[in-house]
This record gives sequence, structure tokens and C-alpha cells, in this order.
Amino acid sequence: MTQYVIIGDGISGSSAAETLREEDPDADITVITDEGEPLYNRILIKEHAKGKLPEAPISIHDEEWYDDRDIDLSLNTHVTTVDTDEKVVRIYDGEDIAYDKLLVATGGTPTQLPVENSDADGIHHFWTFQDARRIRESAENSEQAVIVGAGLLGIDFAAICGAQDVEGTYLMRGDRWWRYALTSEGAEIMHQAMRDVGVEPVFDSGVDRFEVDDDGYVTGVVDPNGDHYACDWAGVAIGLTFNTEFLQDTDVEQNNGVVVDEFMQTNVEDVYAAGDITRFYDVLLGEQAQNGSWGSAKEQGRVAAVNMAADDETEEFKWVSSYSITHFDFPFLSFGHPTIGDEHAERKYSDTEWRRIAFKDGKIVGGVLIGDLSPQSKFKQLMREQRVVADQTEVLLEQSVDLDDLAPAQEQ
Ligand SMILES: Cc1cc2nc3c(=O)[nH]c(=O)nc-3n(C[C@H](O)[C@H](O)[C@H](O)COP(=O)(O)OP(=O)(O)OC[C@H]3O[C@@H](n4cnc5c(N)ncnc54)[C@H](O)[C@@H]3O)c2cc1C
Repeated sequence: MTQYVIIGDGISGSSAAETLREEDPDADITVITDEGEPLYNRILIKEHAKGKLPEAPISIHDEEWYDDRDIDLSLNTHVTTVDTDEKVVRIYDGEDIAYDKLLVATGGTPTQLPVENSDADGIHHFWTFQDARRIRESAENSEQAVIVGAGLLGIDFAAICGAQDVEGTYLMRGDRWWRYALTSEGAEIMHQAMRDVGVEPVFDSGVDRFEVDDDGYVTGVVDPNGDHYACDWAGVAIGLTFNTEFLQDTDVEQNNGVVVDEFMQTNVEDVYAAGDITRFYDVLLGEQAQNGSWGSAKEQGRVAAVNMAADDETEEFKWVSSYSITHFDFPFLSFGHPTIGDEHAERKYSDTEWRRIAFKDGKIVGGVLIGDLSPQSKFKQLMREQRVVADQTEVLLEQSVDLDDLAPAQEQ
């Protein structure tokens, strides 16, 4: 009987456990998590922090779900080391757990700003349900907040301010929000949406230091220009540090994430990885890539499990990810890898409609849609087909995209 051990009960670990049970009905399956609750919907915790959603619908699995599938779930259990020669997982203050096949699905932890007082009370990072509970409490009892981190998670703090009637100041390092994926024209739509909910973007700013009161609670931020912003709390979202400490004595290859092939297999036999933590071989892109999104993590967990349960590598990860923002009066969606590419095409259609497509070697590799998401499935289809279309941007930028208007695909 094969013993599978999964570290992490986020969506990637949990989806792997579910698939393993389907693929291998007799196996021993253990899921270890250092959180105190089983899988919940990480995407929805921002709605809780906004004060819009109670706790119950955010939970996905209760402990019974694992019992019903004969999956051994260890809550509040922190993995400290893995010995890939002995094939054991060591946990803090507990007994070793042996494995035949191991899945690392441990995601990341929000990175702290390397500045004075960055660990003060009232400075929030946002990753867990517990974080969401604390943020909600701060936001409900406050008048003003400072937000740092001009990316997909930072904007959640802006939305929380808007929903909780908190006056927000959003400090950004460059001249616009998510400057790696948006040009000024698209970003301005987002800036206006922030202003409309009472959050003021401040550009070419950032944090030099946090100021605290005698109790060590944050009271303000001083930016690198010397400007001072008072706050009742601060939200920091400047990126993730991957949870790989327990792999330090192993030969598992890392490169800002755990390196895996398209089968989710690391360079060490019987060790797999899935979810945010991976730097995976993207078969559509033809190179290593990274991706922090729910759907992709779920699919990587499934694919990893199928390959772990099979004797041979049977299924590759082939996926176009997407990440949507629904905080404002218009929808926003990024798909694929919008921050890379050697060519780009963009157009603005109205005050709340904009589109940008990123190409590499003539093929679409990602993009951003604001306001009108209708071309989404067509662009994803072109990505999956790996069609060379960069010379036909007029068709792709039409308000209503008709793939029949594209010149026939050339043989590659
Ligand atoms: C506020 C917020 C909003 C988001 N919104 C969206 C969205 O709108 N759309 C979207 O696609 N994605 C969104 N995401 C991102 C998405 O949630 C992640 O990409 C996804 O949850 C990653 O899943 P994962 O399983 O790889 O990692 P995680 O969900 O991070 O799970 C990893 C688990 O491993 C545990 N762990 C780590 N180290 C150890 C250890 N040593 N021992 C034991 N356990 C350990 C962690 O505590 C955690 O429970 C959002 C994320 C956040 C935080």
C-alpha cells in the first residue's frame, strides 16, 4: 500500500488528496497543514474582510470530508524538515511521518517590508482566514488606512477600505498600479475606480518607515519623499516568500520556488510540488513559469496526484490561468502571463473598457481585460492552439472579436 504525504491543505494540496483517493482507493493519504482549519476559499476571505460575507460560506471542507475519504488530516502541524533519503517528513513537536511519495503544496507567506517597525501591531498582511478576521476588525473600527503594494493583492486592501468606509491612501512605488501588466491608460481606469471608493493613489512613493505609538501600534507611514501619512492601520501586499524552509537539507531544486517539470515532478525522485510554490515548465509558453492563482493551483494539485498514482508520467499540466477582480462597477481579468512578452497591443474603448494583449514569438501569452471580458475564451483558445496572431492585432482589438476574421492558421 502506497503512503502519500501532502504538505499543505490549500487548494492545491486538497485537490491532490481528493484525486489521489480516486486514483488509488487503498492508499494511505496524509495531509499536513499548519493552519487550524481545513480547506477554505482563499479567494473569498477578502469578502469577509470587506464585511460582506459571514464565515460559513468561506469554508470548503470540514474535518468530516477527510474522514469520509479516509484521508488523515493533521491540523496545526508544522513541517520542519524533509529527509528525502530516509523518506520521512519531520514535524515540530511530533513524530516523523514516513512517505513513499511526497507532495509539497505549501504556497507562500506575505513578505514583510524591510523597514523600521514593519512588524508593528496594526500592520496587516493578507493570506489566511485569520488575517481576514483581524483586517475586518481593524477596518470596522477605523477611519483611515495606508495601503502598500501595487498589485493584485494590494487592490484587495483598497476594496476593503471602500467597503468599510475607511479613507485609504494607496502608496505605489512607480507611476501606476500593476505597472508590469498595465500601461498608463489601463491603470488610470483602476485609479479612478479607487478614487470613487475613497482610496487615493499616491505615485512614486512607498515606505521609508512606519511610525508607532508607545504601545507599538502603527500610527503613520513616512514615504521615501519624506511625506507623512497618518493611519489607524496599514495593509502591506508586496509579494510572497515561498514556504520552502523545510527543504533546505534536500537536493530539491529551487529557483524562487520549487522547480518542477510539466508533470509536477521535482528533480528528486518521488517528490512532487503543486500550486503557488512551483516554478513549472509551461508547455504552452515553452519555458519555466510561475503563477499565483486559484484555478491553476487546483489543476496542478490534480495533475500532480494523477502522476503520483501512476507508474509513469501520464498527464502534463497544460493550463491558461486567469485572475479576476470584482470589486468595482466593471469587471477586470488578467489571463495567462500578462507581465511577459516581446510585443503588445492595446486599446481603450470607453472610460471603463480597455484591453491589452501580450505576445511572445507572435503567440498570445497573456493579457488584461477591463470592462468587457467577452474575448476571454477566444484569447485562451488561441493560446491553447499556440497560434501565431501578433500580425493580426486589428482583429484581436475589435470590440467584438470574431476568430473567423483571422487569417487561417499557418503550419508551424
Ligand atoms: C486575499 C487573497 C485573495 C486572492 N484572490 C484571488 C483571486 O481572486 N483569484 C485567484 O485566482 N487567486 C486569488 N488568490 C490567490 C489564490 O488564493 C492562491 O493562488 C491559491 O490559494 C494558492 O493555493 P496553494 O494551495 O498553492 O497555496 P496556499 O493556499 O497558500 O496553501 C498552502 C498551505 O500550506 C501551509 N503550509 C505552509 N508551510 C507549511 C509547513 N511548513 N507545514 C505545514 N503546512 C504548511 C499553509 O499554511 C497553507 O495552508 C488570492 C489570495 C489571497 C490571499
